Amino acid sequence: MVARSLLDDSRQLQRAIALIGLGARLQLLQSETSLPYERLLKLYKEVAGRSPSKGQLPFSTDWFIGWQPNIHASLFFNIYEYLQKASAIDEVEALMKAYQLYVAEVSTNGVEPLLSITRAWRLVKFVDSGMLCLTACKRCGGNFINHSYELSANYVCGLCEPPARAGKGRRGGLIH
Ligand SMILES: [Zn+2]
Repeated sequence: MVARSLLDDSRQLQRAIALIGLGARLQLLQSETSLPYERLLKLYKEVAGRSPSKGQLPFSTDWFIGWQPNIHASLFFNIYEYLQKASAIDEVEALMKAYQLYVAEVSTNGVEPLLSITRAWRLVKFVDSGMLCLTACKRCGGNFINHSYELSANYVCGLCEPPARAGKGRRGGLIH
């Protein structure tokens, strides 16, 4: 039993280090590893080289619906869902892997990742709890994050129908 728990401990530690490396907030580590708070705090300082931020976690589902964030969130979630279906990995592994692939994908296109690993984690939880879901765009057929209570039959995504201001240059729409 001792060897087994040592192994599990080391697995938890590796997972925490990888998550911190991806920019995870302390709350994510507390929720997704079984390591005690004091140990996580120490680890965080050691790996990140600073104290974790104390602010509240993003709780609102609305952020994921905004035009630009929605495209990022949808891209991430499509990758995440694919990984979950295609391989026998657990939720946290899928989160980390999908997040890395998402960052690589947007970076290749010269775009700054808008989604943090903590937001990505919240997104998975929101979908798990049925508050958000993937809805197919009736024009392009792509799957996009949407509020579960929205009617989906006539849904048109933000790529097919960008908001008017989005076309007016960088200051217009990229940040909001
Ligand atoms: Zn579309």
